Order: sequence, then C-alpha cells, then structure tokens
Amino acid sequence: MTAASGAGLLAQLDTQPRVRDFLSHAVTTGRVSHAYLFVGAPGSGKLDAAWALAQSLLCENDGCGACDACVRVARHTHPDVHVYEPESATGYLIAQVRDLLEDVALSPIRAPRKVYIIDRAEQLRANTANALLKTLEEPPAHTVFILLGTSTDVMLPTIVSRCQCVPFRMLSTEESTTAVAHATGLAPARCRMAVAVAGSPSRAIEFLKSAERQEARRQMLRAVDALPRADEADILLAAKDLMGAIRAPLADVKSTQQAVLEQNADYLSRGALKQLEDRNKRELSARERSGIMEALASVRVLLRDVLMSLEGASDGIVDEDAADIVARLASVTTTAGALGALDAVSAAEKRIARNITPQLTIEVMLFDIRKALVCL
Ligand SMILES: [Zn+2]
Repeated sequence: MTAASGAGLLAQLDTQPRVRDFLSHAVTTGRVSHAYLFVGAPGSGKLDAAWALAQSLLCENDGCGACDACVRVARHTHPDVHVYEPESATGYLIAQVRDLLEDVALSPIRAPRKVYIIDRAEQLRANTANALLKTLEEPPAHTVFILLGTSTDVMLPTIVSRCQCVPFRMLSTEESTTAVAHATGLAPARCRMAVAVAGSPSRAIEFLKSAERQEARRQMLRAVDALPRADEADILLAAKDLMGAIRAPLADVKSTQQAVLEQNADYLSRGALKQLEDRNKRELSARERSGIMEALASVRVLLRDVLMSLEGASDGIVDEDAADIVARLASVTTTAGALGALDAVSAAEKRIARNITPQLTIEVMLFDIRKALVCL
C-alpha cells in the first residue's frame, strides 16, 4: 500500500509522502485513530494534510475527490468538519473549547463522522487544555480530532499522550514555491514572494487568490518606500490608510457572518444567538490580527531584500515586483540602517502579540523604520 487509491486531496499530498502513505493506510484499513497530532514547522503543510485526511474520512468512496462530501470538504463548506484556531492573542479561549465540546455532543449532519481540526494546539494551555482532555481521551464514536502543533516540546504532555503523533518534515523554500506554483499556475517568482509573506504554501495560495490582501501588501511597501521623505503627518496618515487596507478583506467575512445570523435568527434561542455573535466578533479580531502579521511580514521581506541588495546579493531578492523600491531604499541607507529597521518590525510583532492597538503599533514601527533608515 503506497497511496490512497482515489484522486482526493490525500493522494495528492506530494510534499509529505510518508505522512500521505501512513494516513492512507490508516483510512483504507479502517484503523483510524480518534485523535492525531500533526507535528512540524510552520509551512510544512499540516493544515493541508488535515483537510486531506478529513476528506478521506468523510468520503464514501475511498477519497475519490469527486463525490458531494469530497467537494464540500475541498471547498471548506462541509458542516461536519470544524476548524478551530486561537481567538485571542494569548491563546485559546475557554469559550471556544466549551463551544467545541457542545458541538462534539451533537450527531454529524451529513457524514457518518465529524472531524475537528485544532490549529496551533500548543496554545491550548491550563484550563482550555484541561477542559478538552476527557473528550480527547474518550470521544464519541463518530469523532476524529486532528491537532496541529509545531513541536511536542511546547505542548502539554497530557495532550500529547492522548494523540497519535504524525511528524512532518520541514519543506525548503524551493519545495514550498514549487507546491504553490503547481497549485496556482503562477510564475515561481510570485509564488516565492507569497510564501515569504504568508508563511506557508496553503496561506500563500490564499494570499494569491485575494486581491485585497495583495493590495494591503503593496500599500505597506509604498508606505515604507515613502518613509525617507515623510514627515510626521505623512506617517500618521499612512498608518491610518494601512489599517483600512488591512481591514478590507474583513468585509467579506462580516457579510458571510451576517448572512448566517439572519438565516438562523428565527430558530436560535437568544442565548445561542448571543453565543454566535460573540464567536463572530472573536473570528473578526483573529482575522484582523493575522492580516496585520501578514503586513508586518511583507515589510520584513522588503527590508531583507534591501539588506541583500546592500550586501551585493541582489539575485537573492524575493520582492521582484518591488525591485524599484528595494533599489531606492538601498540607495538611502546602510547595512546598519536596514538591520535597525528590521528590529523595528520585530518590536511591532511583539506589540501585536501583547495586544497593543494595531494602528498605534504601525505608527510606531514606521517612525522607527524611518529613523533607522535615514540615521546613518
Ligand atoms: Zn469522495
């Protein structure tokens, strides 16, 4: 047995052949664990593999890739697959875990099984982890948990010991780029930039599909480009505009949330509606935070390119579409200036993790980058 017999997502998991064969074997022999822990570096494809496993589990046809269940899972609209990610800057909220446990108690809607994907499971700590332990150990018969984590060292041993661990190998930038180019059909240079900005092949593919997220990046690059000539008022205005660009993709999320609320308003109790509204609010703030982190990553990539250019390694530049900006910045600063500017980006990432207002964080970062770049 080497791979899934079907043409579904699992059979196509080429970047992680060992994982593919292991999971395919489990599915085809009917020996599926009730809880998996996928462990590997960011960008190793854990989330893709989780969706692929979910598809094989819910398909009636050996992971055919074509049946109604397979299509719904591939579009992320199957009602029996639930994905959780931490909704606060400090980790999972107890309300999220309660939400999950209430859902686990219900029967599946369409499929014979339900799948729960828990991303960044290392952020299940203390009370949130404890609330989940009993269910993780003895879940209802129709339930499969797939936890994703970067390393078992940073996870609670009580969680790790209840799961079957599946190690993922780290992908090189080259492999990630190839995977994104394969999935999107876009030029390798563009795919490499997307991987650098978005952090993993699956996020890079989403990024390349979103005109708004790409526009937020371009606006961020233009703001940094203008910094050497900017005064205080320019910087404050740029930070305000950037927040607008970063929040633009949220409009879609909001309208989907609103539609779901309206569809359910008639038969949900007031308490359940309130719970749904709270969950929507948390989802929005989590999305906003990841948009900001992506914008910060795009500055980091740009400044690294400036550094490469200053060090005479221009052929290693990632932002090929912004080569003019890289050249202009390199002409006004030094290696020390570029390194100082990169420190300003790291400081901003830490501020966001500590829940400091995004707009203020971006303002401070732009001021610090300007100071570092021009203060020779
Ligand atoms: Zn199928």
